[in-house]
Amino acid sequence: MAIAVLRQISGGGAMLLMWCPGCQLVDEDGEPHRGLHGVNVPAIDGSIREPNWSWDGVLYRPTISPSILIYPSGSQPRCHSFVKQGRWCYLVDCEHSLAGQTVSLPSLPGWVVR
Ligand SMILES: [Zn+2]
Repeated sequence: MAIAVLRQISGGGAMLLMWCPGCQLVDEDGEPHRGLHGVNVPAIDGSIREPNWSWDGVLYRPTISPSILIYPSGSQPRCHSFVKQGRWCYLVDCEHSLAGQTVSLPSLPGWVVR
């Protein structure tokens, strides 16, 4: 089960997708949503898209910098984190229940990986 997947972006760059248990909502049918966070990282061909994060290239235990900030919008809470060695390190200014906690990246839902 993948905890991070890399998607090439047409026109250059790539996006690393991960699942955030702090932001996730679960539908009545049990399907998780609203937890997908992605950051631009260098593509395999070296192309980048700004803003660009540095990534250690490890999919099963990624480390990314600098921090990831998701601005609040509608039902989306503010989410501010570092990803270090496959773990979300949530900063205390998050608006969800995992603020200040460190948790392992969960597996991505099947609908993301397919
Ligand atoms: Zn989040």
